[in-house]
Amino acid sequence: MKFPPNLFAGQRFAVVGLGKNGLPVAHRLLAMGAAVTVWDDNPTARAAAVGLEVRMPDFAGLDALVLSPGIPHVLPKPHPIAQAARDAGVPILSDVELLYRAVRAAGSAARFAGVTGTNGKSTTTALLAHMLEVAGRPVAAGGNLGTASLALPLLGDDGVYVIEMSSYMLERITSLRFSEACMLNLSPDHLDRHGDMAGYARAKRAIFDRQLAGDLAVVGVEDALSRQMAAALRAGPAQVLTVSGSGAADVWAEGSVLRDAAGVIADLAQAQALPGSHNAQNAAAASAMAAHLGLSRAEIVQGLMSYPGLPHRQEMVGSIQGVRFVNDSKATNADSTARALECYDRMILIAGGMAKEGGIESLAQYFPRLALVLLIGRDAPAFAATLAAHGVSHRIVGTLDVATEQAWAAARAGLAPVVLLSPACASWDQFTGFDQRGDHFRDQVRAIAQREGGR
Ligand code: ADP
Repeated sequence: MKFPPNLFAGQRFAVVGLGKNGLPVAHRLLAMGAAVTVWDDNPTARAAAVGLEVRMPDFAGLDALVLSPGIPHVLPKPHPIAQAARDAGVPILSDVELLYRAVRAAGSAARFAGVTGTNGKSTTTALLAHMLEVAGRPVAAGGNLGTASLALPLLGDDGVYVIEMSSYMLERITSLRFSEACMLNLSPDHLDRHGDMAGYARAKRAIFDRQLAGDLAVVGVEDALSRQMAAALRAGPAQVLTVSGSGAADVWAEGSVLRDAAGVIADLAQAQALPGSHNAQNAAAASAMAAHLGLSRAEIVQGLMSYPGLPHRQEMVGSIQGVRFVNDSKATNADSTARALECYDRMILIAGGMAKEGGIESLAQYFPRLALVLLIGRDAPAFAATLAAHGVSHRIVGTLDVATEQAWAAARAGLAPVVLLSPACASWDQFTGFDQRGDHFRDQVRAIAQREGGR
């Protein structure tokens, strides 16, 4: 199904920020009949806007400013264009809001399921979409993950959009209603953009705005702020289901066994791509939403067991002479790295880059599992100081290339059976993003495997 070409006829939009999201969004709006201008402060990005009207937005008569998620409109400092839009009273919207309007304007009652949280959004989004797909339901997944929302296809009444929502996107929706909404967890991240934890929690809570009786609110209960949110949501109107990968909740895991009030759902030890209690939480959340969307128990189990996983999230990238290499490049904060450290008894860890506040002090309980830590990137010295204070064997090696080679040498000598890249850091000091860092690691492991006879 295609969106009719006149859906947004007579409406005017300015798209600012012409990255992965902005360009397809501008083209889609044009194809839907809107008048569109585009802008990016970077001349190279502007040059890529072929076939589009490139100019600074003119706010007179503008229906909305569609701002790239990476550009702030409040904190730490509004971008001048965002400030001008606010001064002119022009709404600042996320393209997912426009997708919702387009779907409804096209006459489709397709449902919207939304997932947010500090960690686990992409996994839960991809897992729910996978479950729906194997159950034969029309589904489209996107948002913060992969495809820009507005570039998704039009689905019919039985279709489901599964949307990963960042807190920035949640600040830029005004009518979108999620019939299934999920908030997984809250830990300090992006506080520069939200002021403080309260502001961050407020932004995340917006995923439940406009829900109606009959809708489902899924909330993780692993941290105190999320538990507070669940308690507040109990006032209704949506049904609330709590989820946990480790403790009591409406859908929860006992060890690796996923359960709800009706009994055992599945043993996740058999789900290859969902290791650890954090993934049990993601599985609980996706299962709760899938059931609300009408999937049977058997369909949910089939989806859990056949889920292939996402790259860079504890992705097995090779096994050489019994040593497993795990790419967890997506772990850009200590909390995410903790989730991976939980999964292995003894390992060689590669970490470092641009650290978040607090560094790796919070990982101390896992330090006894670390046979050796190889440190890369800008904040290697700070991590080295923490490790030295706890008596953990470590070396500052500078680059990922050197780290991978030294990790293999140490593992081959019998130091540990697992080499884990889980940096607890952003990658911008040495890479274009976590994906380039993970790709690089995977390529290098493959090269070592070829050299040494592994796979
Ligand atoms: P996001 O899209 O929110 O960044 P991902 O699904 O890409 O989340 O997972 C990123 C990292 O976060 C994973 O590699 C893992 O370390 C950690 N993680 C995943 N799910 C959870 C969870 N439910 N709770 C805590 N940490 C998690």
